[in-house]
This record gives sequence, C-alpha cells and structure tokens, in this order.
Amino acid sequence: MVMAALLLPCQRKPAFPGLTIGSGCSLTQVKDTLAEIISELPEEKTQTYRALLKHLQSLAGQQIRNMATLGGHVMSRHCYSDLNPILSVGSAVLNLLSEEGLRQIPLDGQFLAGLVSADLKPGEILGSVYIPHSQKWEFVSAFRQAQCRQNALPEVNAAMRVRFKEGTDTIQELSIAYGGVGPSTTTAHSTCQRLLGRRWNALTLDEACRLLLDEVSLPGSALGGKVDFRRTLIVSFFFKFYLEVLQELTVGVTPPEPADSQRYPEIADRFRSALGEFQVTLPQGIQTYQKVDSHQPLQDPVGRPIMHLSGLKHATGEAIFCDDIPRVDNELFMALVTSTRAHARIISIDSSEALDLPGVVDVITAEDIPGTNGDEDDKLLAVDKVLCVGQVICAVVAETDIQAKRATDKIKVTYEDLKPVIFTIEDAIKHNSFLCPEKTLEQGNVEEAFENVDQIVEGEVHVGGQEHFYMETQRVLVIPKTEDKELDMYVSTQDPAHVQKTVSSTLNIPISRITCHVKRVGGGFGGKVARPAVFGAIAAVGAVKTGHPIRLVLDREDDMLITGGRHPLFGKYKVGFMNSGRIKALDIRCYLNGGCTLDDSELVTEFLVLKLENAYKIRNLRLRGRACMTNLPSNTAFRGFGFPQGALVTESCITAVAAKCGLPPEKIREKNMYKTVDKTIYKQAFSPEPLIRCWKECLDKSSFHIRRTQVEEFNKKNYWKKRGIAVVPMKFSVGFAATSYHQAAALVHIYTDGSVLVAHGGNELGQGIHTKMLQVASRELRIPMSHLHVCETSTATVPNTVATAASIGADVNGRAVQDACQILLRRLEPIIKKNPEGSWRDWIEAAFEQRISLSATGYFRGYKAFMDWEKGEGDPFPYYVYGAACSEVEIDCLTGAHRKIRTDIVMDACCSLNPAIDVGQIEGAFIQGMGLYTTEELHYSPEGVLYSRSPNEYKIPTAADVPEQFHVSLLPSSQTPLTIYSSKGLGESGMFLASSVFFAIADAVAAARRQRDLAEDFTARSPATPERVRMACADQFTDMIPRDDPKTFKPWSIPIA
Ligand SMILES: Cc1cc2nc3c(=O)[nH]c(=O)nc-3n(C[C@H](O)[C@H](O)[C@H](O)COP(=O)(O)OP(=O)(O)OC[C@H]3O[C@@H](n4cnc5c(N)ncnc54)[C@H](O)[C@@H]3O)c2cc1C
Repeated sequence: MVMAALLLPCQRKPAFPGLTIGSGCSLTQVKDTLAEIISELPEEKTQTYRALLKHLQSLAGQQIRNMATLGGHVMSRHCYSDLNPILSVGSAVLNLLSEEGLRQIPLDGQFLAGLVSADLKPGEILGSVYIPHSQKWEFVSAFRQAQCRQNALPEVNAAMRVRFKEGTDTIQELSIAYGGVGPSTTTAHSTCQRLLGRRWNALTLDEACRLLLDEVSLPGSALGGKVDFRRTLIVSFFFKFYLEVLQELTVGVTPPEPADSQRYPEIADRFRSALGEFQVTLPQGIQTYQKVDSHQPLQDPVGRPIMHLSGLKHATGEAIFCDDIPRVDNELFMALVTSTRAHARIISIDSSEALDLPGVVDVITAEDIPGTNGDEDDKLLAVDKVLCVGQVICAVVAETDIQAKRATDKIKVTYEDLKPVIFTIEDAIKHNSFLCPEKTLEQGNVEEAFENVDQIVEGEVHVGGQEHFYMETQRVLVIPKTEDKELDMYVSTQDPAHVQKTVSSTLNIPISRITCHVKRVGGGFGGKVARPAVFGAIAAVGAVKTGHPIRLVLDREDDMLITGGRHPLFGKYKVGFMNSGRIKALDIRCYLNGGCTLDDSELVTEFLVLKLENAYKIRNLRLRGRACMTNLPSNTAFRGFGFPQGALVTESCITAVAAKCGLPPEKIREKNMYKTVDKTIYKQAFSPEPLIRCWKECLDKSSFHIRRTQVEEFNKKNYWKKRGIAVVPMKFSVGFAATSYHQAAALVHIYTDGSVLVAHGGNELGQGIHTKMLQVASRELRIPMSHLHVCETSTATVPNTVATAASIGADVNGRAVQDACQILLRRLEPIIKKNPEGSWRDWIEAAFEQRISLSATGYFRGYKAFMDWEKGEGDPFPYYVYGAACSEVEIDCLTGAHRKIRTDIVMDACCSLNPAIDVGQIEGAFIQGMGLYTTEELHYSPEGVLYSRSPNEYKIPTAADVPEQFHVSLLPSSQTPLTIYSSKGLGESGMFLASSVFFAIADAVAAARRQRDLAEDFTARSPATPERVRMACADQFTDMIPRDDPKTFKPWSIPIA
C-alpha cells in the first residue's frame, strides 16, 4: 500500500493493494501523488489512477485544485463531480473516523445518492479514501465534456470499468457511472449486470447503448437543458470506451493462446480517430508590426510598442479601481431590489420588515426622486409596472453591504401579472412588438435580379447575445458635499458626462454641481456607456436623501441579471447567384432582441444595417433591420455595435452559396469582394485597396491553400475527428454616424518643475488610451514620457465629453491633446529660440517668469458624419478598418469539442500609435469574439429569468482557449490622413475576425456531414457550442436517442434569438 500525504491516516490494512489518500489532501496534491505512483507501478495496476489523473488535469482550474480537498470533493457529492464516478467504478472505499474508531464504507452509487444507510453517521468524518490498484484484464476510462476546456463544469462526465475473464473478451465485471445526468452521480447498475458474460464486440456495443439510454434517462425538462446532447453523450462516451478497450485488447494486452483473429475485432483505421482527446497546450504567438522610421528621434515614442502604463499595476493589483477607494466617513452601502416578474403591475411595495433589520437606514423608491425619474419608457426606479425580471424597483441603504443585501430579500413587492409576456424574437414578430421602425438600405433591383440567376438559396441564422463580463462590475461612490448641493462621484463608466447629466436631471440640480471622476474602468466593452448613469443617479438620490456618502457595487449575479448585453439576432436571407459563385442579388432581414426599453437599440439597428454588406459588392442588395421589444433586460452597446452579429449572417450566405456551387467559400468571398474604388450601399466612397492587401497577406501568411489541402487529407483519413479551415475578410467602419460625437477636448498643464499633467475626455478602460495620449503629448512637446502624467478623467477638467466608444477614443482625444500641446509649444517657441541649448525646465521657468500661461485647452472639431435614412445615403463614418483572419480547428464529432489549431490575422492599423497596445486590442477583441461565437451562452427560463448569472454558468474564454498558434500582423504602410498621425482605431474590429473560428468549425461540421451523406446547408447557430457541433454531426448515436415531443414538456430554458 502506498501512503500519500495523509491528513488522517487509516489504520486498517486493506484487503487488496492500493493507494490511500488523506481526505485533507488538496486536489493538486492528489494529482501529484497519482502522477508519481503511475510512474512507479506497471500500467495494468494504474488504470483507475490514470483516469483520475486525466480529469484532475482539466477539472476546474489550478487555483481551485490548489484549494479544494479530496474530502471536500467526495463529501460534496456534486452531480457534476469528475472524480466520484471514477472512484465509484474503481471500487474506492471511504475510511471514516469517529470517537468510536474506524469504519469503512464503499464509495458506491448508494453513498453518492446520499442514502442514509450508506452514509456517514453523526460524529463521523472522512479520514481517507482507499483506491485499489487495477488488475490485469481490467480497463478503466473517464470522459468529460464541458462548454470549454478549462474552468468549466462538465455537462456530462462518465467513468467506466470493465474486467474480462482472464485471456478472453468475456465481460466478468462492468461498472459505469455518469455525472451531470441526474441529481447525483448516476450508476448504470442494471445495464452492467445484463452485460455480464457478453463478449466485447459490436453486438454488445449496440445493446449496451440501448440499455444505457433506457436506464440513464433524462426527462425533456431536465435541469440544465441540452437534453438531446446529454443523451447523445451517454452513448458517445460508451462508444469511446468500447474502442479504447478494444484497442488495449488488440494492441496493449498480449493475446491469449492460441491467437484467434476473430476474438478481437479490428478497429478500422479511420475509426481510430474516435480515440484520444484534445490536450491543452501552451499557446504560441507571433506579433508582426512595422519599426518606426530610422530618422525618428529616439525620444519620440509614437509608433513604438510602449507597454500600457498601468500594465504592471494591473498585474500586481496595485491599480486603484472604484471600489478600491477606501471607505469615507459615514459611508453607507446600497443594494438594489429587482423585479421577479417579467411583465406586471406593481400593486404594493412593503419595506417595513426590511427597515426593522439592524443596520438598515432607508429604502429609496421612485417617490424619493426630486427631479426626473429617467425616461417615460425607461424609469430609473419602477413606478407602477415592471417590464422584465431584474428591473430595479427600489434600493436599500444600510450600514454595511451585507446588511443592505440581506434587507433586499425582506422587501415585499406584490404584483399583478400582465399580458403579453414576450421573450423571443419569434413572439415579438408575432405580436408586432418593436422598439423602433425598420431601417432599410437598398440598391439595384433585387426582385428583378432574383429572376435572372442560376440558383437561389434561402436560410436563417441565429446569433445568441453576449454578456459584457467586464472584470469590474457596475459600481459608483457618491459623496455629497456639505455646501451648495455639490456631489463628487467616482464611477466606473465610459461616459462620465452622461452620468453627470442624468444625476443632474434626477436631482434637479445644475450639472455644474456634480463632478464625476474616472480613474480607470475595469473593462467596459459598451456596457458602461448608458447603464452607469442609472446606478449613479439611484445612488445619488440615496446620498442626497440620507446625507451620507453611498457606495453601490453590484455583485456579479446582480450585474448579469440587471444589465443587458449584446443583442441576440435572428437573420433571414435570400441569395441569388450564378453557378460560378457570383452573387447577383441578396436580401437580408435581421431582427434584434432589444429587451424592454430602447436604450441604444435603434442605433445598434442602424449600425447593423450600415455594416451588413461587410466586404462585398453586391449590385442588387436589400438590407433590413429592426429591434424587437421583449420582456427581457434592455440590451445595449457592445463592442462592434451590431456588426459581429450581422456580418455573421452575410458570411453565412457566402458559405451557403459555396455549398450549392460546390466551391470553397474563400472563392465565393474573393469573387464578390470590393476590388476597386467604389461606393458602399449608402453611397460613401472608399478604396478597398487595404482590404485586398489584408486578404492576400492573410492567405499568404497562413499558407492557406496548402493547409486547405492538408485539411482535406486529414478529413479523408479520420471519421470521428474533422478539421476545418476558414478565412474571412472584414471592412469595419469606426465612429458614430453623427457629427456631434466627433469632438474632443483636452487640458494640458505644465508645472514649474517641468512636469506635465494631461487631462482629456477619454476614459481608460484598459485599452491604453492614457498611454497613447502621453505618447502624443511627448511627441508634440518633445519631452520624454516620464515628464508626463494622466491623473484621471474628470468632468471638472474636461467638460461635455462624449462616450469613449466606437473605436475613436484615441483618434479624437489624440487630436485634442495634440492641439493643446501645439498651443503650449507655440507659446514657448520664442523662449526656446532665445535659448536653444536650454533644458525643458529652463524654458518652463523662463515662461513662468515672463507670465506666459502654461496651461492650454486643446479642442478637436471632428469629422462630419451624417446619414439620411429616407434617401438611404450618407457619409456616416470617418474611415474603415480592414482586416482578414484565417482559423483552423479540429472537432471531435462524438463530443462536439474543438481545438483551435491556428489563427492568422492581418489588420490594417495604418501607422499604429502603439503596436503593443493595438495588437493587444486586436487579440483581446478576437478572444472576446471567440467567446461570442463558440462558448458564451445566455440561458433564460420560460418565465424570463436569466439562469446564467455567474462564471460557472456563463463561459468566457480562458487562456486554454487561445489558438495554439496565434499570429497577428499589422499591414505595413497604409495611410489615412484623417486621424492622429494616420493611426486607426482598433478597439472593436477584431471581434468579428473571430467568426473565422466559427466558420472553420462549420467547415469541419460540413466535412463530417458530407461523409455521413447529410445536407451541408444546416441552419447556422452561434455560438457553435459543443452541443450544437455534436448534434450537427448526426450519426448512429444521435439517431438512437429518444426524442421528446416538444408539446409534452416544459423546457428548462428557451431560445431568445
Ligand atoms: C469554481 C469552481 C469550479 C469547480 N469545477 C469543478 C469541476 O470542473 N469538476 C469537479 O468535479 N469539481 C469542480 N469543483 C468542485 C471542487 O472539485 C470541489 O469538489 C469543491 O470545491 C469542494 O471541495 P472543498 O475542499 O472546497 O470542500 P469544502 O467546501 O471544504 O467541503 C464541502 C463539504 O464537505 C464537507 N467535508 C469536507 N471535508 C470533510 C471530511 N473530511 N469529512 C466529512 N465532511 C467533510 C464540508 O463540511 C462541506 O459540507 C469546482 C469548484 C469550484 C469552486
């Protein structure tokens, strides 16, 4: 017996040799111990240990594995436990300790189901777990499938053990246990019993699958949904186990005498691909960008890859965010009470019980608002009705956050439900429930063109929404001053001026009394444009009413529940084309799920329609978009502003055309792409030259054509694993389609020691705007960046700012900083001329002596932008960012998992202000896009309650999801005269390039479907989750699962796109 590091050793000697591990060992210690013992013992003895080790490499993440203990894991008996199924099939024994001594019980199905007869007795604790060695002719395997590769609970897992009668393939013992298919780990005892004595062959496989589906049954309404997928995994895992064992029998174990060729069926080569799982590898990347001109002074930082000035502080935790501000005197905490109904009249709000609780100071309702309570259709605090679950009704103010949160549960709201209740786009269309009129753009004669084409295809695309998942949730600290109704506000926002304005109208005091400070924001992505004003205003009402500073910090669950995100989209297309792949006519109609109030939905719809054509010149084109009103939290701005969803519809048309023409999608893309100077559908002139260069460079750098052939070769040889490759082009417009948004101001002070304080209207969201602004100031003032500093963004230094959004923050604020610095330099010029050898400090001192102002305001009166929707014409965008991305993936057709083999991005950044930051933005946006297109899934109950309200239920990509090879290059030497030093804004565009992963997955799925003689043009649904990939790769296992009539049960969740 090997003794691992034990917390509580067992004293009794087990009957069989094995490993005893103390219950206090962390999962990391268990993993290390297993790795050690596996290296020491013969393979046949370590089957169970290997299975455990495999799961310990992907279970949760390193931090959790370091903290969680074996005892805690076993005793939690979670239905998703990855280790308990293995321990159970591996016949592990629990060594229990109590005052009475040691007792042993099996870790079996009964214990895992929590049966009293098989459980710990009062006074007992788990001392250690004994896991016997496996034996010859015994095989153990474990499987798990999660939404993503690390830090994700399994959707289904399984452990299986078989023991054969020595020298045969006759089953002597069989144990199978599943996780994720019931309230606790589920053992398939009856199936296993019925298969005893059977031989390990195709007949047994078939019967086992049927028995398993019978015994491990999941109702259609099962918690967690994805029922068909989970049923399919039950049998897919068994098939994997069957092949693994067969392989061991034929390769690993010496055949018994005499060798009988009939004994073990051969696994056909192409079926071997069912074996093996994707490993997490350390991603590798290459970033390529241009060196600055060799004549550029060394001190001039523009164009150089300067590290984000707060980067180290972000990593060490020293960077101060809103809630890091220490408590101020007499501060109170606010917590929000939200609606539990989707559409209801509020009959009453009873706060009496909450007010009686210790520490509770007040309850703030709409009646406490001295000024305006938001808009008529979008109240800050609900008045007489609620329009969605999660709408804010009132707020509790208490001495501590815990007291405030606890009290929210004691506020009794009585409702009267109203009709209709609409959650889905389909229902909204049925009820004619829209937030704004339809936006249309049209060119050519679409109907006529459809009559003169070789083929027409119609299709649908569904794109799910996306949660912003900024690291810093919504938060604000409001400090009322004692005089003149002044308020100081520290807010996590992309738009402090909007917060200031909203607070002003809510409190009915002038804007000038309110100062908003933004040091930095822990991620915004559009989610901190509109909503922070609502939280700021509610907190401000509390501060004014109580006279105390108020801190309002949403926890993740409330943030996800209350705030909306990216609009889910449902798109329909009809495309007419020639057999050559030339598209002659295209008609796209999109519907967005806007949620219950307008917010930015009309603007998002406009942008969606303006951007839908992407990189393609289609002469007869009709693009339509409309935002639906539903009883869900209002959706809002999100990186890309409609483009990542909309362009997925356009690109899906391309792949549909390719499938019909029997041509690769990249040929169709190339054929229909803009090629010469042209006008968009809204008649804005542009040159697609950088687009073509990005496309060609991307094909070239990724060795696309060679790899396409290699992918095809791979697919011919592998039945259960398929590879896919896709390249997508991008034309992305930056900026707002309104002139007033294109302006910015800056304020630059030079102090007498020569140090310089730069203030500008942009907010630091992690995107590095302050670093870039200091690079601009450094070049203009010709001083090192070390002389320069940005303290914060404040409405007191730079007033009337516009939101830091639409990718143009650095463009417009950079021009304002440049202007301020040039004004200052012009003032200093006579002094410099007089003393050219002097130092910066000498000049500043001389300027002060001569009474020259060392402070200047810079202003940028930006681009003219307009759009006439009546005529369908305009010049809405200052410029375009072009790019292309190629991704290759491999999918496991049996589980739906995928690995990202490689991504190559070529992006046209013109003359990047800071390639380190710009490449970071491209990579960051790409990874966020990967989340949108592959893993991030919002789940709503049939009553409109968001289930996915934590990182456990909502999976953003982790480091393990980064493509194994990730190459980003900036296109050399393209020019745009409009922007600061010819740089382009790259904040958003990278998002859409992640659709190359989506289309690579679709390419792999199409290859699988071709081989299975299934139609290739299946409805595209984003995200391409393991569930969707698995179910699209239909086969004998998806065919054998029971299917429920949707009318016979209430599903766990409803699709809203
Ligand atoms: C973010 C996150 C992700 C996770 N992902 C996964 C995953 O992917 N797969 C997976 O299988 N698991 C996952 N887990 C669960 C994890 O593996 C552990 O099971 C879980 O954390 C419980 O372990 P613990 O040590 O924290 O237990 P604790 O919280 O300390 O204990 C759990 C329970 O067991 C009792 N207990 C603890 N020790 C003993 C003992 N010696 N005797 C009697 N009772 C005892 C405690 O009193 C408590 O009731 C995840 C957990 C987290 C937090």
